[in-house]
Amino acid sequence: MPSKVVLNIYMDILRPICKECNKNVCAINYKRNGITHYRSICDECGSTKKKLKPRKPKWMASGYKKKKQCDLCGFHSILPTQIIVYHIDGSLENTGYSNLRSICLNCIEVVKKQKVNWTRGDLKVDY
Ligand SMILES: [Zn+2]
Ligand SMILES: [Zn+2]
Repeated sequence: MPSKVVLNIYMDILRPICKECNKNVCAINYKRNGITHYRSICDECGSTKKKLKPRKPKWMASGYKKKKQCDLCGFHSILPTQIIVYHIDGSLENTGYSNLRSICLNCIEVVKKQKVNWTRGDLKVDY
């Protein structure tokens, strides 16, 4: 019993092979005047290309660990998505620990709208 890939190649003998994976046959682009035009990559590579790879945020790469507790109100999160890492100076490039805070979604609204006086190094916030 021939494998699926071999069978595909046999059925589409003139079909080019994907330049990305060199394994699958190319996806059909369009047909005109009885001639089939192919794309240069297969369906598989075409669809994986479209998917955006979730990029690791800079703060994660810097070794900062998002806390389970909000630095501002002390809220304990149940889900990691309830807390986001906030860059105090607004620059996503600045991943110094003094620039990063774990803030709950509730507090982030406050932080965005009013200036918060952050104290460096500890969790206390001076209002
Ligand atoms: Zn491919
Ligand atoms: Zn909070």
